[in-house]
Amino acid sequence: MTATSTAPATATPPTGSPGPTADVAGLVDDLLELLGPDAVHTDDRALDKASVDGSYLSPILRAQWPIGRPEVVCRPTDVEQVPAVVRAAVRRRVPITSRGKGTGNYGQVVPLHGGLVLDLTALRGVDHVDTEAGVVTAEAGVRMLTLEKRLASHHDSQLWMYPSTVQSTLGGFLAGGSAGTGTIVHGRNHEGFVEALDVVFAHEDAEIVHLEGADAQPFVHTYGVAGIIVRATVRIEPLQDWRCVYASFDDHHDAFAAVRRVHLVEPAPRLCSADGAHVSSCLPADEAIPAGRASLRAIVDAAAVDEVRAIIDGAGGVVEAVRTGVNETIKVSTLSYNHPTHWLQKAEPDTWFHMECQGDALVERLDEVEAVYPGGTLHLEAGHGRMFGMLNGHYTSPEAAYAGVPVLEELGVRVHSPHQYRVDHGTEAVRALAARTDPFGLLNPGRWEA
Ligand SMILES: Cc1cc2nc3c(=O)[nH]c(=O)nc-3n(C[C@H](O)[C@H](O)[C@H](O)COP(=O)(O)OP(=O)(O)OC[C@H]3O[C@@H](n4cnc5c(N)ncnc54)[C@H](O)[C@@H]3O)c2cc1C
Repeated sequence: MTATSTAPATATPPTGSPGPTADVAGLVDDLLELLGPDAVHTDDRALDKASVDGSYLSPILRAQWPIGRPEVVCRPTDVEQVPAVVRAAVRRRVPITSRGKGTGNYGQVVPLHGGLVLDLTALRGVDHVDTEAGVVTAEAGVRMLTLEKRLASHHDSQLWMYPSTVQSTLGGFLAGGSAGTGTIVHGRNHEGFVEALDVVFAHEDAEIVHLEGADAQPFVHTYGVAGIIVRATVRIEPLQDWRCVYASFDDHHDAFAAVRRVHLVEPAPRLCSADGAHVSSCLPADEAIPAGRASLRAIVDAAAVDEVRAIIDGAGGVVEAVRTGVNETIKVSTLSYNHPTHWLQKAEPDTWFHMECQGDALVERLDEVEAVYPGGTLHLEAGHGRMFGMLNGHYTSPEAAYAGVPVLEELGVRVHSPHQYRVDHGTEAVRALAARTDPFGLLNPGRWEA
């Protein structure tokens, strides 16, 4: 999911190479000296790996592959090495694209103009957990899954939120993601989740800069174009006694109506998702997701289970399972947000595309919404006071995909196109900021074009 809703645009094919002044060979020498040979890669395997991300979900972007390829990949093992790497790249005028786990779903981690991919996945330290203040400080490469499990087992705490790509990194989720498990209560990742960031700007004398509160927010969901996040302090809260409720329904209209009611129970659920029978049949096999039936999955507080059961019964559904434990909540999370689309495409390759949608019309005008595209089938997600969805349809052409957007808008649905990789959140402010923090235009370049 993205943070804002915008009109769709076709991605502009990139130029694919660093500018004429870029001295990549000089940078490789610098990096070898700074990091040693084990942390610097110019072989095809490493460069290919750093050229892909989750944009396989878009047949429109897939048709444009390869959209970019680096000349060199480096993987610092100490946060203090990052400013030295950045200083070298800036002096050599080589573009720098930060990379976490590479699960970004719009091509935003692919280096459109080549240059250096700065792989941050080795920066995995968890520096400080302060349960009183309700924050954890960790390095950019720590996985969200690791953080959530560690908070649960050692600190009786939980993250405010994490995405369905649980293996993705803290830095990547902050820079590229927007929402997930926890969003029903806490909104999106730019809405108070971030307390402070340590960031490196693309200056010839780059150092780590500590930013707090409002100063840190412009770096969230803006693809690393204004700075490289090396460390983050994000909000945590006391661990709740969660139950994972799986329910099935004859009819997905009933399942979707139930999502709307379940997400309003108190204490509020952490997640509530639903799919029709077709998408449900493509999810990983589970007896709690029976074939041929619509599926609802929710992470609810133990104190709310009876109320949720009553809602499901009242909507004509069947409670298939109620499970407990951090591994179970994480499993339910991996069936949310973009993941049902992922499983649908895996089961039926080269068939589907999707549009990201939001609004009550997703439930109230479901038949009309699904009829916009041939084969239309909606994955529904409860957000912070609103309904989100991935509308999946049979793919024929970009024109046919975009032609559905005004029809959806006419129905009262806000649409975000997942088929483009430009910055579309706070764009003008981020651009003005980047003019100062990245004066040579080296950070993940190519993200401003429509
Ligand atoms: C199947 C599927 C399901 C998904 N589900 C969700 C979901 O539930 N919620 C959600 O919000 N997103 C979701 N996404 C998108 C993506 O997984 C998230 O944005 C994810 O958290 C990105 O983390 P990453 O470590 O993989 O980052 P990457 O993909 O490596 O990077 C993402 C962006 O951030 C930049 N970046 C990475 N690290 C840094 C850093 N340290 N400093 C500055 N910039 C950086 C990259 O250049 C890139 O622009 C999904 C994607 C897929 C394919």
